[in-house]
Amino acid sequence: MSCAAYSSGAGGLRIDDVSFAYNEEPVLRRVTLDVPEGQFISLLGPSGSGKSTLLRLIAGLERPTRGRIAWKGVEIAGPGIDRAVVFQNYSLFPWFTAQANVALAVAKAHPDFGRARRLELARDYLSRVGLGNAAEKYPLQLSGGMQQRAAIARALALEAPVLLMDEPFGALDPVNRGKLQDLLIDAWKGSSPRRTIVFVTHDIDEALYLGDRVALLGASQGKRLLAEIDVPLARPRPRAAFFASAEFRELRENIAERLDADVISGLATNH
Ligand code: ADP
Repeated sequence: MSCAAYSSGAGGLRIDDVSFAYNEEPVLRRVTLDVPEGQFISLLGPSGSGKSTLLRLIAGLERPTRGRIAWKGVEIAGPGIDRAVVFQNYSLFPWFTAQANVALAVAKAHPDFGRARRLELARDYLSRVGLGNAAEKYPLQLSGGMQQRAAIARALALEAPVLLMDEPFGALDPVNRGKLQDLLIDAWKGSSPRRTIVFVTHDIDEALYLGDRVALLGASQGKRLLAEIDVPLARPRPRAAFFASAEFRELRENIAERLDADVISGLATNH
């Protein structure tokens, strides 16, 4: 059985020696990463380091050219209801209300759920993201921040154990971005069992503030995983105290140095 190798000690998400290439152009090289169930991991790296590609591989939207990815011991062979994805563009249907957008996604993921249950889930998750009063509004009646809240509610309402997020707050202003970061952490901590979150960002501060751990991808050095960095700061993490802490500054510096070294080594090998 192809899954047998994963059956021991592989409770969460296992990325095992994964490579990927677009038209023979390597995008990821031999990435191995284990994400325990319930962990919040940030995938951090500069533009072009393959973060989105790795997320798409986990989502099952692409297949690795080498290696395997498994969730709870079962190899990922395509999209599945155990993994919900949030992209940067809110991708809500403009002709449906926020509530109908969420209910429709629930209907696709869980065709066995009745209409009443779908609408109840939609209302529940919209109110959890602060959109209880905007459930009947259409996307164009909502601000960008509110649309992204609705997109998050839609992903949470699927109640998938794995949440994959690709720069979901990249288009938001700093105030809304901060609010949605905190809202996401609250939703994650409030879920039982706790979801496993893989969060793509190119923002070092965001990666550290949100993550239990940061997986650092390089754009040079053969597009490899450069480092796995634990973020041992306790939660809750009050924003001001977190960013003022010596631990945060040290981690930030460490990551910046590694990214600089990656760029320099890339320049050296290109010449
Ligand atoms: P990141 O998310 O870190 O910015 P991506 O995973 O989006 O990186 O892209 C990694 C590399 O793969 C980039 O060099 C990009 O140009 C290339 N790439 C991404 N998508 C495609 C595609 N559909 N076809 C060809 N190349 C692609």
